Amino acid sequence: MKIKSLKWIVSILAFVLVCASALTFSKDQASAASVYMKVVVNSNDTLNVRSGAGVKYKVVTKLKRNTVVTRTKTSNGWSKITYNKKTGWVNTKYLKKVVVKAAAKPLANFTFVVDAGHGGSDRGAFYYNVKEKDVNLKAAKELQKQLVAKGATVVMTRTKDVFPSLEARVKKSKKQNLMLILAFTTTQVKLATKQIKVI
Ligand SMILES: [Zn+2]
Repeated sequence: MKIKSLKWIVSILAFVLVCASALTFSKDQASAASVYMKVVVNSNDTLNVRSGAGVKYKVVTKLKRNTVVTRTKTSNGWSKITYNKKTGWVNTKYLKKVVVKAAAKPLANFTFVVDAGHGGSDRGAFYYNVKEKDVNLKAAKELQKQLVAKGATVVMTRTKDVFPSLEARVKKSKKQNLMLILAFTTTQVKLATKQIKVI
């Protein structure tokens, strides 16, 4: 597929998904909606993130004032939060709910499966020392980055130079509740990942 046309495809598919989502969302997903919280400590202070809900648990990481975290659970004055892929517990009194504009994360609750074609011993097309498998992976990663920035959950069929079988790729896709597969395969090797833009 031509990368240039990707933004159109993504926008069309996102639209299709909006239509389809009402049918496919499970009740679990809807009720488990997490809340964005902001860290409210003094500017020079940090907030301890602990491995459990209490001061006796060890500190996993520390957060600065105004860091926005995702809260998934509360328990006895403590909040379970996720920040930068790290999960832990913080004292709820240092958190304040933030209102996130819906437009900022238009793809929240959407799951995309991004499949970079070829990989490993299967290099795909080859032109002037450029291997298709590498171009596909680069493009797939760029797309992943942009989808994540819009709030989407992205499952990559590969993130390295390996070759998952077609079966493995499909299996990965089937695990997802709401599925959209964006498969990359390139016929024109001369392309820039800059051209990918999720709108
Ligand atoms: Zn190909």
